[in-house]
Amino acid sequence: MSRYVYSFGDGKADGSAEMKALLGGKGAGLAEMTNLGLPVPPGFTITTEVCGLFFRDDGWPEGLQEEIDVALETLEGRLDKRLGDHDRPLLVSVRSGAAVSMPGMMDTVLNLGLNDTTAAGLAELSGDARFAWDSYRRFVTMYGDVVLGIHYTRFARAEEDFCGDRTVRDLSIDELKELVERLKQVIADAGSAFPTDPKEQLSHAIDAVFNSYNTHRARYYRKTHGIPETAGTAVSVQAMVFGNMGGDSGTGVGFTRNPKSGENGVFGEWLPNAQGEDVVAGIRTPHPISQAAKGEGISLEQALPDTYEALGDMMRRLEAHYHDMQDIEFTISQGTLYLLQTRTGKRTAMAAVRIAVDMVGEGLIDEEQALSRIQPKSLEMMLRPVISPSAKKKVIAHGLDASPGAACGRVVFHSAEVQEYFDRDEPTVLVRVETSPEDIQGMTVAQGILTARGGQTSHAAVVARGMGKPCVVGCTELHVDYSRELFYAGDTVVRKGDWITIDGGTGEVMEGQVDMLSADTEGGAMDKLLGWADARARLQVRANADTGVDAARARGLGAMGIGLCRTEHMFFQPDALRAMRRMILADDPQSRQRALQDVLPIQREMFVELFEAMDGLPVTIRLLDPPLHEFLPNRDEDVSDIAKELGIRVDALHARLEALEEANPMLGHRGVRVGITTPEVYRMQVRAIFEAAYEVHRDGKEVHPEVMIPLVAMPEELHRMREEVVQTAETVIGEYGGGPSYHIGTMIELPRAALLAGEIAKYADFFSFGTNDLTQMTYGFSRDDMGKFFPDYQRLGLLPDSPLAVFDVQGVGQLVQIGTERGRAANPRLKVGVCGEHGGDPTGIGFFHQVGLDYVSCSPYRVPVARLAAAHAALGLL
Ligand code: ADP
Ligand code: MG
Ligand code: MG
Repeated sequence: MSRYVYSFGDGKADGSAEMKALLGGKGAGLAEMTNLGLPVPPGFTITTEVCGLFFRDDGWPEGLQEEIDVALETLEGRLDKRLGDHDRPLLVSVRSGAAVSMPGMMDTVLNLGLNDTTAAGLAELSGDARFAWDSYRRFVTMYGDVVLGIHYTRFARAEEDFCGDRTVRDLSIDELKELVERLKQVIADAGSAFPTDPKEQLSHAIDAVFNSYNTHRARYYRKTHGIPETAGTAVSVQAMVFGNMGGDSGTGVGFTRNPKSGENGVFGEWLPNAQGEDVVAGIRTPHPISQAAKGEGISLEQALPDTYEALGDMMRRLEAHYHDMQDIEFTISQGTLYLLQTRTGKRTAMAAVRIAVDMVGEGLIDEEQALSRIQPKSLEMMLRPVISPSAKKKVIAHGLDASPGAACGRVVFHSAEVQEYFDRDEPTVLVRVETSPEDIQGMTVAQGILTARGGQTSHAAVVARGMGKPCVVGCTELHVDYSRELFYAGDTVVRKGDWITIDGGTGEVMEGQVDMLSADTEGGAMDKLLGWADARARLQVRANADTGVDAARARGLGAMGIGLCRTEHMFFQPDALRAMRRMILADDPQSRQRALQDVLPIQREMFVELFEAMDGLPVTIRLLDPPLHEFLPNRDEDVSDIAKELGIRVDALHARLEALEEANPMLGHRGVRVGITTPEVYRMQVRAIFEAAYEVHRDGKEVHPEVMIPLVAMPEELHRMREEVVQTAETVIGEYGGGPSYHIGTMIELPRAALLAGEIAKYADFFSFGTNDLTQMTYGFSRDDMGKFFPDYQRLGLLPDSPLAVFDVQGVGQLVQIGTERGRAANPRLKVGVCGEHGGDPTGIGFFHQVGLDYVSCSPYRVPVARLAAAHAALGLL
């Protein structure tokens, strides 16, 4: 037969920390603290298993009552008090506690055992009538609320009516007694009865705690946090200790380290002369525990220095025992300290890193434990500014949290204007209905991006994440009026030049300048942690970067090279864009060549910056990928401007635009297909690469260029391109009389390329899986159109996550595996990496490690995430 009840108290418990599943987090913690000899009021825990039986059979299992009776007798014996006894009344709390904590979801009843007789007895025994009737008052309300289901506010209102403009603490003893009667009347008025028999109170309270496991909100919490329904809650019945017995009593909560910053030392709040729920109820403002902490009121350190010392000692002991930061609850009863709860404390990403690294230094945990305690994804947050927790803010709209971090700036609606503000050193937030490739320039220099439309995979979201820029998208409450240069958010009108703040981690849009905390890798804790990660990782981490600034930032974050430079982003620079347009619209080879000659120095200069920033490390440069029409205007009003600028006729430009138009650009004339049909473009780019390489090489730096051909589907495409690249490279090297060694490779981003990898690898020194395109091409949908059906798929559970955000191991993973195996079989020296967004996605990284890839490449801000994930993969944690 199962055992249903486990006792704790007097320095010895039946349970321990290992029994969390059976005793719940709270019950296991109480048992463990008891075993450690810490002062825990005695009691007993009814197991989580009983909870399951209770719901199955709609009642208590056979034998439970007997076990409870025995445990209760033991408890009564220990304390020499009895439930319901007038002379020495025992009071207990009945506390919920599931294996996985669900903060604030379930119920607890305090001061159980009181009735008119025991209240009078308690007053005599304690010599404190106020305390006795105050406890009774609390119990009637809590019992009515939690057990009888009468809404808390009805008691609160009755109390307010009774007190008038005084508080409960101002009432005389007789008035307090009268108030208790009034509260009982609230129960009677609701058609319920307040049981005077404490045993009856106890069994109803136990049922109520079980039932609180099954409320709507608790079920919803479990669903959203992935906690199994069957886990159940335990119920701990524990002798009460009283924090409401005068100035040398009180209650509080504490952390062994600061949960926001990670700083070592007691952190927390307490309230003198109070019981548990007072601290969280918000009626009185709690005081700090430590004198040094900011806060109102007398600190515990000042009020009760000895107790403060004792508490600090106990907290340090608990932390040393659990090898992790603890969050504890305590009560002080007439100078005596009791611990009522301990659990692993929740903390911010920043605190988590600092605590893990500090604890290695203190010898509490080892490096691998430190690594395992940090979620790779959480590191991304650490690099971004955040809204200060104490900031005053007025939220005017909510959108989707597309790219984390907070940004604050003046509202600007057009990309060109972002640059003007930037030149005057004025920060901006770019506000658009949605963004398009023409907005890249503005997005690059804006502090943040806000769009009224679009989902998590919209252009704005993807580009912003790539840039590491705070971004809120799909903010449907926003009505953007470009012509009047303003937007409405409900009743609020925000005009061009007004300040706003956005929080890409929550999706909030706020009026004005809201206080922010700047990104903080304090004391190099993150660097230290990532050093440990690198020592264990097998996958190397590179960055996707298109500019010298991004490359330098990536290197600072530990990138071991550039895995993807998208050369087309350079063309959106105004001079380059004009020349590109001339090239695309040229009628004859000579004028086309002349236009390309104008692009060449701009490209070369940008490659120089990249090579310099990456001195000694490989730089993979992808030749032009998008279709040429992306460089042409798509708005009628722009067409005439551009025709004028280029000195051609508007109808001629229209004709060319029509000729280039594609029904489906993603599957159109792009990538290597442009290289095959317009070889001059790639020739110009390769020349720019090798001229830049020569220049940087000459200045004494080490250059490792890798030329990458996009969108190859056929081995012969790469064969031809390889010859082209070699020819141009050798020509340049010949002209300059030298240059670095180089590699030529291809993206594998079409299913056909993955399948024919064995053939393609004959012409490749490296493969880089472009998992963005490969995912879209494998699923057969484009991210620009998936917003039409994806929300439904998500709701129906068909696709819980977008495969563009979380790598599809099952499907796309097969192509990566096949491509790698076949490629390596044909060319054993083939280097293989990934350069899609999944290069920074821990799920993807776990898989890429398994398949044996050499490197992943991701946006600079994700480099720390990827480094830690690569270590997690090597440690078998992913
Ligand atoms: P929660 O899970 O909501 O934190 P708890 O069971 O921890 O609920 O109870 C809330 C508070 O009630 C505790 O922090 C403590 O202050 C008080 N409390 C619970 N049991 C006792 C007890 N036996 N004696 C004194 N206070 C108690
Ligand atoms: Mg608690
Ligand atoms: Mg691609």
